[in-house]
Amino acid sequence: MTTVTRFAPSPTGMLHVGNIRTALHNWLLAKQHGGRFLLRIDDTDAARSAEHFVDAIRADLGWLGLDPDGEERQSLRFDLYETAFARLVAAGRLYRCYETAQELDLKRKVQLGRGLPPIYDRSSLALTEADHAAKAAAGDAPHWRFLLDHAQPITWDDGIRGPQQFDPAQLSDPVVRRADGSWLYMLPSAIDDVAMGVTDVLRGEDHVSNTASQIQMFTALGAKPPRFAHEALLVGSEGKLSKRLGSLGVAELRDAGIEPEALVALLARLGTSDPVDPKLDAAALADSFDLGHFGRAPARFDEAELHRVNAAIVHRLPFARVAHKLPAEMVAGGFGEAAWEGIRPNLAHIDEAADWWRVIRGPVTPPAFDTETQGYLTKAAQVAATLDWSDAPWAALTGALKASTGRKGKGLFLPLRQALTALDHGPDMAALLPLIGQDETVRRLAAA
Ligand code: GLU
Repeated sequence: MTTVTRFAPSPTGMLHVGNIRTALHNWLLAKQHGGRFLLRIDDTDAARSAEHFVDAIRADLGWLGLDPDGEERQSLRFDLYETAFARLVAAGRLYRCYETAQELDLKRKVQLGRGLPPIYDRSSLALTEADHAAKAAAGDAPHWRFLLDHAQPITWDDGIRGPQQFDPAQLSDPVVRRADGSWLYMLPSAIDDVAMGVTDVLRGEDHVSNTASQIQMFTALGAKPPRFAHEALLVGSEGKLSKRLGSLGVAELRDAGIEPEALVALLARLGTSDPVDPKLDAAALADSFDLGHFGRAPARFDEAELHRVNAAIVHRLPFARVAHKLPAEMVAGGFGEAAWEGIRPNLAHIDEAADWWRVIRGPVTPPAFDTETQGYLTKAAQVAATLDWSDAPWAALTGALKASTGRKGKGLFLPLRQALTALDHGPDMAALLPLIGQDETVRRLAAA
């Protein structure tokens, strides 16, 4: 059976790192098995859903390279829910209730006060047809609950948490439909998972108790439940649930110079003890993706680590992938690729290339040198002027200077770097020198 996974965001806000991790893991799971990854827009809540969030979700997935193999949206599937609803009503698995939020709240308080778990007491189940007719006559519309079968213990083998067991009598019958006819998320989700042939539901551990109820919904719908796996929550580097993580999304990370490949590489491993593998190709991460490696402890998202992974990614990015982000003059000059490859090992973020490009183009303002060093640099200018520039000029220049001056190590290299770049460290001079060019090299050395 082909693996089918889905990412099912509600378009009521922007994706944050936690959602992105869920999307990525579903994508990886599908890729790993040559299966399909679906995007399902859970927009049954018309009041809170907004079209611009749907567009943003698609755009964010596109930026991350997690293109879905299909897209569905719940607001276009109400007929399907209506049919399943009618079947479940006929089968006696859905029942009408009228309690207000305040009444339910009071019941819960009383139960808690008596040391009892706050489980819905099913009092509406006792209503007769005459009672319902009276409610209807009074203009009181019902909401609907799913009747959990207390005789069927709920078990599943969770892909991350291992064997799970729930006593349905310890759960409230979930409300699946509001009095205004609108749907809560649980039942449409189960109906869709069946209809879309979803084989694996991978989501956050905040859904564990929903899964318990949904397993009975699948059975009531006449379907075999999919495999379930629940990931530990994401926490900040300080180990706590952080507000920042709940709002940190693609836009902010992109503005901070984070490349999609870095976010993908880090999130692919977050929650496992596997080392981060800064691969450029997300599909290559799929082979080693293993739900069994995920632990139950909260997964720490450390922004400093993300920037380190970003540097490792930038060091691997080919010129073609970054050309549009580099200074136009650097790309147009014909030596863009050589410049990029020379500069890249020094970058944590692509936009820093512009700083090195300014160093290459000049003018630079080197420090003041002492007389002896000035003499050395004058000599260097003379040697540079006579070199065959087409063949490894830095090796030729330093080789000749070493032989003629007896300088070595720092004394040989540092004044040259300082005179040519005005800095003490930076990209490999062997890469920079051809980019600075012979005339300019001679000029900078002579001027120092
Ligand atoms: N729309 C639900 C959510 O965002 C989907 C949960 C699920 O994956 O089933 O929480």
